[in-house]
Amino acid sequence: MKKHNFSAGPAILPAPVLKEAGKAAANYQGMGLSLLELSHRGPEFTAIIEEANALMREIIGLPENYHVLWLSGGASTQFYMAPFNLLDNGETAAYLDSGTWANKAIKEAKLFGHVEVIASSKEQNYTFIPKHYKIPKHAKYLHITSNNTIFGTQMHKFPKSPVPLVCDMSSDFLSRPFDPRPFGLLYAGAQKNLGPAGATVVIVREDMLGKVNRAMPSMLDYRTFIKENSLYNTPPVFPIYVSLLTLRWIKKNGGLKGMQRRNRAKAAILYDEVDQNPLFRGTVAKEDRSLMNACFVMQDQYVHLEKEFLKETEANGMVGLKGHRSVGGFRASIYNAMPKFSVQALVDLMQDFAKRKG
Ligand SMILES: *Cc1c(COP(=O)(O)O)cnc(C)c1O
Repeated sequence: MKKHNFSAGPAILPAPVLKEAGKAAANYQGMGLSLLELSHRGPEFTAIIEEANALMREIIGLPENYHVLWLSGGASTQFYMAPFNLLDNGETAAYLDSGTWANKAIKEAKLFGHVEVIASSKEQNYTFIPKHYKIPKHAKYLHITSNNTIFGTQMHKFPKSPVPLVCDMSSDFLSRPFDPRPFGLLYAGAQKNLGPAGATVVIVREDMLGKVNRAMPSMLDYRTFIKENSLYNTPPVFPIYVSLLTLRWIKKNGGLKGMQRRNRAKAAILYDEVDQNPLFRGTVAKEDRSLMNACFVMQDQYVHLEKEFLKETEANGMVGLKGHRSVGGFRASIYNAMPKFSVQALVDLMQDFAKRKG
C-alpha cells in the first residue's frame, strides 16, 4: 500500500505523475527507448522543455521580460549564483533572516558584496516572520525566503519593496497565485513541490542581468542559460520531464488558484486539530503558519509521549513526520500533491491518541 508521505523533501509527487514517469523511464512514448537514454538535443526532449517553459509561464502568468531557466545544483547553488550575478563588489544587498535557509543564503552573499540583514527572527528560534523593517533604497535587491521549510513559517504577504525582490521559493513554489512583477529573480529546487531532486528552476527578469563587472565562468552566468534555452550543457533531463508532468497536473487541477484552495483546506484541518487537541500545540506565530510545513510539538506535560506517537504514525503508514532537529516534535509537510485524506488520517490518529492518553 502507498504510504502517507509527510516528508519535507524530496517530497510527495502526484500519483498520476509518478505513474507516467515510471512509464517514460521504461519506454518513452512506445519508442523502444527510455527517456533516460534520449539525447537532450533530440526532438523529444526539445518538445518537453518547450512545453515545460510555456506551461510555467502560463501557470504563473509571467510577463514577457522574464526568463525560465532549468539548472542543477539545487537551491543551495542559487545562494551564491544569485549574488554572483546581481551584486558587484562594494554594492549592498538586503537580506531578511527568517530561517536556516535564509541564513545560508546570507553567508554566501557575503562572498560577493556587502550584506545588510535588515531583520531577523533568529533570537526567537525563527518562530515568526520579521515585519516592520526598513528596506534600504540603495540595495541592489532584497532577498527573502517565502516559506521556511524547517521552522514552518510562510510569508503570506510579500513586502512592498523599493528594490527588486530575490526569493528562495523552494518549498512553496506554485502553491498559490502570486504577482511576479516585484520579483527580479526567484528560484526553487524542484524536490519540494515540483519534481525530483536534480532540477532547480530560476525565473529571472531581463533587466537584472549584465550589471556586474566580475569575470564569470559560463556555467555561473545566467545569460549562458538564457541564450542556450537551458541547453548549454546536458540539463537534468528526467527531473525536467517529471516537472513537466507536475505542471500539467497543476493546470488540470485548477492552476495556482486550485492549488491554493486545496492547500488552505488541508492546512486548516491540521492546524484546527493542533489547536483543539489537548496533547499538542503549534510552534510558530499563528499568522505566519506555513500551509506547506506544519510544525507542532506535544504540550509540556505530554512530551514524554512524542516517541510513542511517532511510532504510531509509522505503524499507520505515515512517514516523514519527525520534526527537524532544530525544532523537535513533529513536522507534517503537506505540499501540493498531498491528498486531503492523508491529512485526515493524521488528524484521526491525533484524536484517537488523545482519547487513549489524554
Ligand atoms: C530544501 C531547501 C533548500 C535547499 O535546497 P537544495 O536543493 O537541497 O539545495 C533551500 N531553501 C529552501 C527554502 C528549502 O526548502
